[in-house]
Amino acid sequence: MTENERKLNGLLEQLHDDYVDASVGMSERVARDVAKTRLQVVELIEEYANKDDTISRSRVNTLLRDLEAIEREIRTVAETSLAGAMKDSVEIGYANALTAFHKTLGLSADFVLTARVAESLVLPTLTGKAPSPSNLAEYLAHRTGPDGLILSDRVWQLAGEQRAEMGNVLRRGIIRGDSTSKMVCDIRTVYENEAWKARRLALTEANTAYRTAIGYTAEKSKFVSALRLVPGVHHSEKCVAKAGEDRHGLGAGIFLPSDSDIYSIHPNCTAYTQFILTEEVR
Ligand SMILES: [Zn+2]
Repeated sequence: MTENERKLNGLLEQLHDDYVDASVGMSERVARDVAKTRLQVVELIEEYANKDDTISRSRVNTLLRDLEAIEREIRTVAETSLAGAMKDSVEIGYANALTAFHKTLGLSADFVLTARVAESLVLPTLTGKAPSPSNLAEYLAHRTGPDGLILSDRVWQLAGEQRAEMGNVLRRGIIRGDSTSKMVCDIRTVYENEAWKARRLALTEANTAYRTAIGYTAEKSKFVSALRLVPGVHHSEKCVAKAGEDRHGLGAGIFLPSDSDIYSIHPNCTAYTQFILTEEVR
């Protein structure tokens, strides 16, 4: 690493550390937004309550059908909240990359953001559009991941699993003749047990958005020739293996911005990328 690269990447690392903290906050916010839908389940239970605070067995199927509306609400809330976290992450990613250039090399890389996307391998479907945080978040939401799913599939999965759990708990409670306050309590437990899924999804998508924004800046900046992948704080096996790969004969862990697989290596990944500078600014 040259002196310039050391300075630049030192600052990028520091800024990335701050971002990781911020992304934890974002994932908590998404989980909290999903958790708010619990009140609707409580209302539903109260609606169905008899005078003795139980729910008639004959109404179990209607109540379970009514959970569909709550599942839809979870989806809507989660998708909106995730989109916000991704957009915020792109904004921070861009800001961090531009700050690093500016503070350590005195270079302005703003041109990356002011030009419309042209022939980008990082953002292939955004050609002709502005590389704005919302467009980038939108692109990521519609892109098929390595698991063959798009973001809304993952959200539907999460909402569907949560509804199934709630259905099990309520069906059991009603058949047993539990009080509605017991069922409200059990629903709270379901929400607590499921919350990690929303947090994980948010953390994964937000960090991917951050890395993609940095990657796009690298692709379009005339100061960057390649990226060095730094594994995340958990040093997960997949991350470490990827960072040991010498894909282009440029050295272990050196990738091109178009290698978009390095932006989403595994769930909860906190890897980031450093910049290898071009000759003129090395
Ligand atoms: Zn990782």
